[in-house]
Amino acid sequence: MSLETVNAPLAGRHARPAGTVVSAGAVEIGGPAVVVIAGPCAVEDEEQLLSTAREVKAAGARVLRGGAYKPRTSPYSFPGLKAEGLRLLARARAATGLPVVTEVMDARHLEQVIACADILQVGSRNMQNVTLLEEVGRCRVPVLLKRGMSATLAEYLLAAERVMAHGNEQVILCERGIRTFEPSTRNTLDLGAVPLLKRHTHLPVIVDPSHGTGVAWMVAPMACAAVAAGADGLLIEVHTHPERALSDGGQSLSPGEFAALMPRLAAMAAAAGRSLA
Ligand code: PEP
Ligand code: MN
Repeated sequence: MSLETVNAPLAGRHARPAGTVVSAGAVEIGGPAVVVIAGPCAVEDEEQLLSTAREVKAAGARVLRGGAYKPRTSPYSFPGLKAEGLRLLARARAATGLPVVTEVMDARHLEQVIACADILQVGSRNMQNVTLLEEVGRCRVPVLLKRGMSATLAEYLLAAERVMAHGNEQVILCERGIRTFEPSTRNTLDLGAVPLLKRHTHLPVIVDPSHGTGVAWMVAPMACAAVAAGADGLLIEVHTHPERALSDGGQSLSPGEFAALMPRLAAMAAAAGRSLA
């Protein structure tokens, strides 16, 4: 099945040719401006989260990210602070005014996640979790749906269609790299997905160059490339001390590296006829 033939009456571009804008607080994703979402992979403690939130805000990020429930590959890795992490995210939101996106791994956590989040992230590992998609579909909170690491674009679009079919039309798509035979990067960032998805769906499309490469020094060039390819936003992992991070330190930018990247992204956005939000 290809994007050309997939049956997606709600998510398909023909349903809303002008495109969909998803709002989180005062931030609009899918409009003329490119939105940068930034923050740590995982919420680790109050000082780490708040200082990262302040730094990314000062550099121009418009949405704060941070994982409280972490879907780690190894059962022995840091699993996130869970409910306490959500409380810290709510505190960071209150302190900075930034809307928050955080992952919901399990429908049983939806109520507590919604209390602290402005956007619900459904992670790559859950892109085909039918029950979770249906449950977030029943919510009235925007959903950031990440592409499954082995999902075709047609399968991805149908996952978004499932959320919409259950009543939630506020879906943001996020290309975060797919699994290929290439071992030099964590994933292969499929930037061709951006123009393809933009052609076949009206939903906003953002790019995560952090998980997409797994390599901090590759984040800046691939973030620039994503904006050139037409992405409506970026999701970038930032940690105050990447070498000490409890998860994904190897792909996290320091606040200084993030601040240095933002003017480059603004120039890329301008070249693409857009601006940075
Ligand atoms: C994340 O954003 O921290 C994450 C776990 O992403 P993914 O689901 O893309 O691996
Ligand atoms: Mn991560």
